[in-house]
Amino acid sequence: MDDLSLLIDLHISADRQGPGGTAETRRAIELSGLSRRQKLKIADIGCGTGASTLVLAHDLDARIVAVDFLSDFLDVLRSRAAQAGLADRIDTVNASMDKLPFDADSLDAIWSEGAVYNIGFENGVKMWRPFLRPGGILAVSELTWLTASRPAELEDHWCRQYPEVGTAASKLAVLEHNGYAPIGYFVLPEHCWLDGYYRPMQQRFPAFLARHAPSDAARAVVAAEVLEIDLYERHRAFVSYGFYLARKVDAAS
Ligand code: SAH
Repeated sequence: MDDLSLLIDLHISADRQGPGGTAETRRAIELSGLSRRQKLKIADIGCGTGASTLVLAHDLDARIVAVDFLSDFLDVLRSRAAQAGLADRIDTVNASMDKLPFDADSLDAIWSEGAVYNIGFENGVKMWRPFLRPGGILAVSELTWLTASRPAELEDHWCRQYPEVGTAASKLAVLEHNGYAPIGYFVLPEHCWLDGYYRPMQQRFPAFLARHAPSDAARAVVAAEVLEIDLYERHRAFVSYGFYLARKVDAAS
């Protein structure tokens, strides 16, 4: 099995494929100003198996287009949507986030939790902006330094994994320079990492390793996650995901 298939296998049964939580998705909806008063069209990009998609579909009067490049995740999302009675509000699109099939100015909001890093935050917010209607909402969570400096081993790890990791001030500046007005920001609390993501993943390790024994590749996947979890546990005061809410604005003339 190749590495991507192993990652799919490790993560497909999870509620979320990255740090987050239902209450935090709701907090972001509240900060965004989106409400049931409007009929909305929203894209959820890098939706995984749809944790945030289901909250958006449940809480808003919206048609959600859930986009991911892994069709296995979208299959799970569709069955979760059906179980929740929300299937008629959700369409799935199997596409890469750097080749989105939307018309210009066609979306009221773009949602993306723990996913834009795959094409880089700045690249992503630039590429996605044309699809938003004027005044449309961008809601993205993104790996964020919580302080101006941090322990060297943490910095080394994340700068290797994701060179664009930065402080909230730097992320807000990227938004401001790319045609957005920031309207909200908050930090995902620790339970989003531990209860929402890492602890359930740790519980899946034994069965995952047993399914793929004797696979060095599977052991390497687990070892990488164990290392990341250990770093998070020891240095959680310095790093989290920031949730950024911004409105598309026209450049000043
Ligand atoms: N938003 C979900 C999933 C986050 S994990 C959650 O919070 O639970 C990141 C997701 O991005 C995965 O589902 C992965 O398949 C998807 N992804 C990664 N690269 C992508 C790309 N280039 N285009 C579309 N989706 C991508």
